[in-house]
Parts: sequence; C-alpha cells; structure tokens
Amino acid sequence: MEVPGYPPQSGAMNLTKTLPLFLFVASASCSAQTLVIGLYDYADLSAKETTRLTETAGLALADAGIQVVWAHCRGTLAVPPAAACEREMQANQIVMRINPTGLPSSNGDRVQHLGKTLATADGGQFASVSVPAVRAQAAGFGIAFDLLLGYAVAHEAGHCLLGPGHSNSGLMRAAWNRKDSEEMTRLSLHLTEQEARKAAARLSGTELAAKR
Ligand SMILES: [Zn+2]
Repeated sequence: MEVPGYPPQSGAMNLTKTLPLFLFVASASCSAQTLVIGLYDYADLSAKETTRLTETAGLALADAGIQVVWAHCRGTLAVPPAAACEREMQANQIVMRINPTGLPSSNGDRVQHLGKTLATADGGQFASVSVPAVRAQAAGFGIAFDLLLGYAVAHEAGHCLLGPGHSNSGLMRAAWNRKDSEEMTRLSLHLTEQEARKAAARLSGTELAAKR
C-alpha cells in the first residue's frame, strides 16, 4: 500500500509509460457520487468473469451510494477501448489493473496480497489486484473466483477513496475470513456507514473540482 515498497518497473506506475492518460468529460448522466473505473485486464479474463467482477464490485459500492461507471481499457471487453481510456484522467477516475502475477509486498513478507493501491490519506488513483492471489483465496474459501475478484476490486477502489487504512469489519477489513466470504456470496459485504459517508464526500469534492 505504501509507495516506497512499490517497484517502479511493475504495477500501476508502469501504466503511465505504456498507456495514454485520459480525460473523462463528466456527462450529464453523472450523479454526484460517480466513480469511473478504468479497467486494464492483463490477465486475459473471460467476458463472463469480467462481467461478473464488474457487477459484483458495482453492487458492493452501490450500497454506499456510489455509482460505478466502467471504462474497459484493456481486455476482452475493451474492443475497442472505451473513450474514457484515451483521454486525460479526471479526479473521480481511477485505474484498476488486473494483474496476472502476484503483487510485490512492501515489507518483504510472504503474505500474498489480493490487491494493492498507491494511496495517501487523501486517497489515490492507481490500484491493482492479483489474479493468482485471488484464485488461491477463493479456493480456500470455497467461493467463486470472479465473485472474490469483484470484492477485491471494490476494496482497492475503497482505498482510492478512503486512503490506506482498514476497518474491523466489512469491505475494508485488512484480511477477510470465512464469515466475510459467506457475506460475499449473499452480496452483503459493504463499506461501513462512516466509510460510505467519507467516500461519497470525497467523490462529491472531486467532481466539484473537476467542473471548475
Ligand atoms: Zn486493503
């Protein structure tokens, strides 16, 4: 989660070298709490897996009043890439990379992190999730891979809005347990009320800034 442990040659930082940055022009359809997620799939997910993960992450965040607009920038549904991928990035837009390998750990431990976000206390715009780590954890829980992937994406999007901190319950727990995985299968794992308010406030702020 911290910048120092994140090798510049890997992960989201590299996107700036290989991908055009983009400008998302807020359209009339954007409500006050719209989050645009530019999805870069480097793991060759199927269309079904991609659809399931976006539906799941969208539902998880919708409970907090956040409407996710997906921009498919790379992967099976990105043919051609969405217009938002070609433009300069807006304040309410984040980059979500679906990584085919494990993620570098910041302290050299062997724990397989499901995802990673470059975030300060004010949030961030670059996040990634690890497909092998999510697959292994989903198998451990006995739940569908694309379901857990959706929650991992929603969790990292949460860091982009809330900063690097974790909570003792819900979507933003540092490590999920089997009970959390059962809530995922019922699609009832969410942000806490306090987190939802903070995330919505941040999105309102960024959208106001974007319109100036
Ligand atoms: Zn986290």
